[in-house]
Amino acid sequence: MPGTQGLTVAIDGTSGSGKSSTSRAVANRFGLRYLDTGAMYRGAAWWMLNNSVDLADSAAIGQACDSFSIESTTDPNAPGISVDGTDVSAAIREDAVTSAVSAVSAVPEIRHRMVELQRDAVKAACDLGNGIVVEGRDIGTVVLPDADVKIYLVADPAARAARRAEQDVEEGRAANVANVEESLKARDKADSSRTTSPLTKADDAIQVDATYLNLEQVIDAVSALIIENVPAAAELVGGSHA
Ligand code: C5P
Repeated sequence: MPGTQGLTVAIDGTSGSGKSSTSRAVANRFGLRYLDTGAMYRGAAWWMLNNSVDLADSAAIGQACDSFSIESTTDPNAPGISVDGTDVSAAIREDAVTSAVSAVSAVPEIRHRMVELQRDAVKAACDLGNGIVVEGRDIGTVVLPDADVKIYLVADPAARAARRAEQDVEEGRAANVANVEESLKARDKADSSRTTSPLTKADDAIQVDATYLNLEQVIDAVSALIIENVPAAAELVGGSHA
């Protein structure tokens, strides 16, 4: 925010609840940067798979946590992620990474490193611009416990699977709704039951249920909540995120 340290919006929630599309659109609406923390965990999982680290061996994953560099862009119109200088933005959406990511993200050393990188990215965005929308699973609880606005986005598993399958087809990947639903549920279970920073709603987060809302309605609902909680944010609408 002009004259302050920047607006921080945390958007957490279950897999496939529409966090990415909502977060990017909200960032654009308010002229904010955007950070996809899930992409960072996916980048770490991609590296583990490429380097044949045994995913059942959490000690081995932990030991490797500093072995690669990871860089995310924070432009909501061009989100991207590189691992060791390779652009892995498409590769991290493949099924192999999706199946591997919860095992990697459950490892405390990995989380520790990612949280540091995420806070650095938030600081850079707030130093240079109006602020940032950060999406993930532990943003409101761990990464940014003092975020200005915390949203917890949920939706029925069947609705989430249908949307995720649609998105897969749009982006040229094969999709099977039943398989997608099983995979989403398995990731929710793994992400919610891990010991270190499990997926959970922060006490002061506002829950938005997207089951019966289309994307525009979710974006409008989240935008209204931002302005309700930080009235000065209304001045940012339509601005640039630079
Ligand atoms: O958001 P996305 O589905 O791409 O996240 C991929 C995975 O990354 C999640 O299933 C979860 O295991 C992990 N994740 C996490 N903490 C975050 C963001 C994502 O553990 N803040």
